[in-house]
Amino acid sequence: MKVYRIATIPGDGIGKEVVPAGQQVMEALAAASGRFGFEFENFDWGGDYYRQHGVMMPADGLDALRDKDAILFGSAGDPDIPDHITLWGLRLKICQGFDQYANVRPTRILPGIDAPLKRCKPGDLDWVIVRENSEGEYAGVGGRVHQGHPIEAATDVTLMTRVGVERVLRFAFRLAQSRPRRKLTVVTKSNAQRHAMVMWDEIAREIAREFPDVSWDKELVDAMTARMVNRPASLDTIVATNLHADILSDLAAALAGSLGIAPTGNIDPEHRYPSMFEPIHGSAFDIMGKGLANPVGTFWSVVMLLEHLGEHEAAAQLMRAIEAVTADTTMHTGDLDGTATTAQVTDRVCQLLFATR
Ligand code: ATP
Ligand code: MG
Repeated sequence: MKVYRIATIPGDGIGKEVVPAGQQVMEALAAASGRFGFEFENFDWGGDYYRQHGVMMPADGLDALRDKDAILFGSAGDPDIPDHITLWGLRLKICQGFDQYANVRPTRILPGIDAPLKRCKPGDLDWVIVRENSEGEYAGVGGRVHQGHPIEAATDVTLMTRVGVERVLRFAFRLAQSRPRRKLTVVTKSNAQRHAMVMWDEIAREIAREFPDVSWDKELVDAMTARMVNRPASLDTIVATNLHADILSDLAAALAGSLGIAPTGNIDPEHRYPSMFEPIHGSAFDIMGKGLANPVGTFWSVVMLLEHLGEHEAAAQLMRAIEAVTADTTMHTGDLDGTATTAQVTDRVCQLLFATR
């Protein structure tokens, strides 16, 4: 029997509730299938670890993760710790350390979800956003001089490399090719930012020649926000830079009905290192410790994790169970105006997995 080694990193806030829920569902899937198993190792990194050790994760933390098949992550964020420490000290360290250069965010309106686009028919909104996850606007290049003086100045430099742009665009074209509509929209702001973004557009044209069966178009990021709202069915696979896709994917999650549902994968497409899967929501300290967090974003992330491991049948089975719980409004948590708890939703998904095996 194949046993996958999974690292769990709950992190902060509701991450500590949704990651154990994700683990419970994975254990149920494995038990129901009898074909594969999971060996979990939990890492208590995050804000509490920082208060004790002065760092979000230990210096040799990446070594402890290196031989895992995948990582299930919760959230990093703490009201008492500056955001740049919680972000750069843990999540980005793992994304960069393991060269997870493609951030993949599927968005779809699940059954039973009351999404805000009233003119949108079910099926009109079915997207996958690919976010460049290793460089660009978040390369960390820049500086600040003359702090506190009238001539104070600061820069954040967008750094794009040909290798970095080629590989994420090739990944996006390949993903578009694997989906039924074979359609890709490439987003930039190359009319206003005339170096890196123009290079991105040029490289898109080059890579497109490798994929004659994919139809693709270009969109400027400002026009893209309007198109997502007005013509959702005109979009399928979307690829954008680190900053642009960060913003567009939050919009996408909201259009699909709730932040609590949306999943993401930080992927090393070459399988050299473990990839990391997580709900897109943050630590949500306002509801933490109350058992109110919606675990669906984590469960959908588990679906992506299983697909990455090649367990397509189990992934499809879990997705069907997720759709069955969203279709049942008694299983809706507070973010969906319901009263269900994390434990109730989790138990229901586990029951369905045994019932439908
Ligand atoms: P961070 O600083 O880590 O980003 P945050 O407090 O900004 O965390 P977000 O995840 O960005 O939290 O979410 C904003 C709000 O949406 C939360 O305060 C919470 O009320 C709600 N929310 C987010 N995720 C969930 C979820 N899984 N279940 C229920 N409500 C959620
Ligand atoms: Mg937030």
